[in-house]
Amino acid sequence: MKVLVINAGSSSLKYQLIDMDSMEVMAKGLCERIGIEGSKLTHKNTAKKSETVFEKPMKNHSDAISMVVDALVSPECGVISDMSEIGAVGHRVVHGSEIFADSCIINDDVKKALELCSPLAPLHNPANIIGIEACEKIMPDVPQVAVFDTAFHQTMPKKAYMYALPYELYEKHKIRKFGFHGTSHRFVSQEAAKLLNKPIEDLKIITCHLGNGSSVSAVDHGKCIDTSMGFTPLDGVIMGTRTGSMDPAVVTYIMDKENMTAKEVDLLMNKKSGVYGVSGVSSDFRDLTKASKEGNERAALALDMFTYSVKKLIGAYAAAMGGVDAVVFTAGVGENDAAARKSIVEGLEFMGIKIDDEANNQRGKAIDISSADSTVKTLVIPTNEELMIAMDTKRLINNEI
Ligand code: ADP
Repeated sequence: MKVLVINAGSSSLKYQLIDMDSMEVMAKGLCERIGIEGSKLTHKNTAKKSETVFEKPMKNHSDAISMVVDALVSPECGVISDMSEIGAVGHRVVHGSEIFADSCIINDDVKKALELCSPLAPLHNPANIIGIEACEKIMPDVPQVAVFDTAFHQTMPKKAYMYALPYELYEKHKIRKFGFHGTSHRFVSQEAAKLLNKPIEDLKIITCHLGNGSSVSAVDHGKCIDTSMGFTPLDGVIMGTRTGSMDPAVVTYIMDKENMTAKEVDLLMNKKSGVYGVSGVSSDFRDLTKASKEGNERAALALDMFTYSVKKLIGAYAAAMGGVDAVVFTAGVGENDAAARKSIVEGLEFMGIKIDDEANNQRGKAIDISSADSTVKTLVIPTNEELMIAMDTKRLINNEI
């Protein structure tokens, strides 16, 4: 079966066509500036190692999907001969609220439920729904599946997901911890179990998804029992431009002192804070590492704050699970930044976490970087959210468990 994976944003759309027999990406690409002047599709054919750019107006997401299908079947840069070769479409959907604890096949009831989730992710869910409707229009006979960023975290117990606010706010507005990056945490925890050659049901794993946005999860016997992002992705670890956790009273204090509106302070905390805000240099960890080596003290401080915030969560989640068998690093920083990994686990030897410097310096593959005398395994596992979406899509279409 070939599965088309779609990640639709408000003016962009990313896609991958994955052959589920070989698990290989046959083609992938990006539609940009949908509904805006200057729209273009960049399409990559993996086998031919070719890249083709189509510059053509895309009025809406249906135009975009139509162009994607044309590119996939094109004799020059395509990878299939006919649209009928696409067995199913898997969509990334950001928010599934408390309604979706697993991926699901899309039908009219599911679409109604997706609308109910939109107020919780107003920037993302409406675009995801538009992407689904565009595929229905262009490929009416192809089954579609929704895969949610929040679903994996639905197993959290109530004591972990509730905030200590008046209970009515949870009942009225669903104000609670949801968590995000669930598809990535699920994928790397499953891959970790494979790498360790143990059933996931026997393992306590802490997964650290560290990229531009970062979150840490406690995966106890295959189920998420806590995660660091919250009602929104702002909470938890210090991120590229997001604050992570801090005293919530700071928000009203800033609004008062700086004469800011709620929207302005929201923008400040999401886009102007994090390692970028502290360093004043960049949100990119490569730039920060360079600046820090050149003696920039604020860049060094930002990196220290970031690694310290991750370290504390590892301690917290080991306590929450009553132990830990493996710590997993993934995403842009987690997979590539050996110095950040080293600094995060430094001082955790008392918990049995010790890494091997030589192994830690390797890149680009799933690897065990623990030292021989470490009782806890530390692993680096490249995440692959698209493959997880495609695997879920195939599982649901084939009616597998
Ligand atoms: P997103 O959250 O946007 O999906 P990614 O997982 O792609 O983010 O991670 C992006 C981050 O990864 C960037 O901040 C970048 O600095 C960092 N990164 C990528 N490669 C490296 C590297 N070689 N060393 C350090 N950081 C890296």
